[in-house]
Amino acid sequence: MELLTIHGVGDVRLDDYSRPACGPDDVVVKMKAVGICGSDLSYIKVGGIPTPGTKTALGHEGAGEVLEVGGNVGGIAVGDAVIINPMMTPSNIGSGGPEGCFTQELLVRAAEAGTNILPIPEGIGYDVAAMCEPLAVAMHGVNRANVKAGDKVVVFGCGPIGLGMILWLVDRGVTDVVAFDLAPERRERALALGARAALDPLAGSLYDQLGPLHGTGECYFRPCVNTDAWIDAAGAPNLLADVINVTRFQSRYVVTAAYMKPIEFPVGRMLTSEMTLTTAVGYPTEMPDVIAAMPRLKDKIASIISHRLPFGQVLDGLKVAATPQSAKVMIEFEGA
Ligand SMILES: [Zn+2]
Repeated sequence: MELLTIHGVGDVRLDDYSRPACGPDDVVVKMKAVGICGSDLSYIKVGGIPTPGTKTALGHEGAGEVLEVGGNVGGIAVGDAVIINPMMTPSNIGSGGPEGCFTQELLVRAAEAGTNILPIPEGIGYDVAAMCEPLAVAMHGVNRANVKAGDKVVVFGCGPIGLGMILWLVDRGVTDVVAFDLAPERRERALALGARAALDPLAGSLYDQLGPLHGTGECYFRPCVNTDAWIDAAGAPNLLADVINVTRFQSRYVVTAAYMKPIEFPVGRMLTSEMTLTTAVGYPTEMPDVIAAMPRLKDKIASIISHRLPFGQVLDGLKVAATPQSAKVMIEFEGA
């Protein structure tokens, strides 16, 4: 067996691996599809987590078939098609713990049906099932934006998370979504998922580009655009300040991107807008809702997968995932 592991800054390898035995509280899942995440690439860049130089097992977006079930585990049977919720495992799968999904057989410690092991609905492939984790992140970001049908929303960044946000917004009847991304390929995907417009952030100011779409007004003696909510899945250092300078009264701004450095923004200017600034991380409650929507949205979900590679080529997959042309890079195993 092999396990994708970070050894240091920019040093990631497919190591030989022998899986620990399945304990009475554990389950072993034969992996079928695992998505490459932007966080995987960040972990490699910094050389491992929680601290650089720590050997880090990668892969947290996994789906597969149950191979072994510990004696104390109820509600899960050998042969079940399942999604793993890594946030609900004590072993931090793929995010600093001893196990990661980029392996042939994953040990899920303290397995619990409905909590960290979730059934894949009938008729859903492992590839779509493995999209559960990033789609849950996206749904949580949308939930934190408190939007309702008819709202005018901006999504910054059209990587897999931003695209997932557009999918959920449109699904909830928020049809006036304007997306921003530097890459034309990503803007095209945003439009295909139902964004009203997808714009190049360098093509003009927010006011000039959003005004004709969301409308303009005045907020405390300065011109503003009538956007109700802003979801930041891009993490560009200028974004927050740019939004503060054009926001309408009482809009909402949700940070979901990982900012690596502190940023400056004009709090004095923000005062008069009463803008709400908040953040969203992970998916404390969203995975079951994502799974329930899969039968309805499976084709849209599959359209976010831009590349599929066999597990043996996972190192190439990491390179593809770093290019702006890609959306979700899916690693597929035997029999996926
Ligand atoms: Zn992820």
